[in-house]
Amino acid sequence: MDIVADIGGSPGIDCQGFCKYCYFKSVKEVLPFGCKHCFPFQKGCDYCTRSVKESYPGFNHPQYVVQQITQSFHLGNEKINKITISGGGDISCYPGLFDLVKQIAQFNTPIHLGYTSGKGFKDKSEAHTLIEYGVKEVSYTVFATDLKLRREYMNDKNAQASIDTLKVFCEQCDVYAAIVIVPGVNDGKVLDKTLKDLEDFGAKGAILMRFANESSQGLILENAPILSNIKPQTIEEFVKTVHACNDKFDLRISATPLEDPLIGSPFAIRNNKNALSKLPKVSKAATLITGLIAAPRIAQIFNELNSDVNIVPLNKDISCLITIDDFKHIDLKMVKETVILPGRVFAHDSEMKNIFLKDGIDRLVRRGPESLTYDGEMSISMKYDEVIDFEIQKFTELIEQINAIGT
Ligand code: SF4
Repeated sequence: MDIVADIGGSPGIDCQGFCKYCYFKSVKEVLPFGCKHCFPFQKGCDYCTRSVKESYPGFNHPQYVVQQITQSFHLGNEKINKITISGGGDISCYPGLFDLVKQIAQFNTPIHLGYTSGKGFKDKSEAHTLIEYGVKEVSYTVFATDLKLRREYMNDKNAQASIDTLKVFCEQCDVYAAIVIVPGVNDGKVLDKTLKDLEDFGAKGAILMRFANESSQGLILENAPILSNIKPQTIEEFVKTVHACNDKFDLRISATPLEDPLIGSPFAIRNNKNALSKLPKVSKAATLITGLIAAPRIAQIFNELNSDVNIVPLNKDISCLITIDDFKHIDLKMVKETVILPGRVFAHDSEMKNIFLKDGIDRLVRRGPESLTYDGEMSISMKYDEVIDFEIQKFTELIEQINAIGT
């Protein structure tokens, strides 16, 4: 089990200024979406109102964070594998970072710095200190190793120091470097140079992130476009880039929202006959609603299972970011009497029920499992069997649900 040490803070505000491509830039005061955490009689809860924006009023005091960690240690029965420091603001800009890491060292557990852009580091000696206290893994937002681009796009005033710090981490820790690919800015030759540098520094892997610029690509906080002059890559173009990088560099490459060339996820199970044979038989009919990336992959799985389950995609790339607006143009003729939605859909249950009632058919509408697979951000540090076991477990849950409530 992993413990998260939540330092709080807000994207952009607690990051020494917004990166130009930050997904949280220009976020509007949107009405609550409704979600799986809401009460049946009330649309809107803390999660779908506030947490979704990853916005907290300032950083948490290190003492408070340590108290939370101590509680987690006492509550859980499982072995603690690592403590991940993470928050809405940037870890390297957190004034209490050294104090916090020093105190966490007493737990004798490996420390993972969740995403940090490195913008707040002033000198590489800071990396040495953090490593001495037990930092073993770092997820580092690199964007590009080109200093000029880091200054311009990440608002990084200490670009040389952050790259020097990155190098030290690469030499002594497991570093996963994140690169949001902004077409025409840090792709092509710039991306090649960045990945070559990471290879030379000794990074463990690189997570390529598709830049989203439209609501259908996941900008649900009325903040699209982030960069008005940039045309984002299509899913197909992005997948091509990921495979090309994977072929070219001696680095573990993975990507989000897809794809992991080594493991074959998301939905790696679709290409593993043995794993598919471990799933229960599908004995009932149902419709699964999902996003554009998942739809063909899930369809392949249920075709292999010879089931009477059909998949209806909505116009949203990532199914976890589906909102009630995405249901507006759904063709109800395609929808059977039992409907299962992605567990994390951002819509209130009562609204979803009404959407599927519009043609007069009283359908049974339920949320399915929270997730069915891992994206590249997760799978990059996992083994193939771990991903497959997870997918077997989640598809088993889904099929059991279909068999229990399907028609
Ligand atoms: S460091 Fe991350 S969260 Fe902060 S502004 Fe940049 S992209 Fe946004």
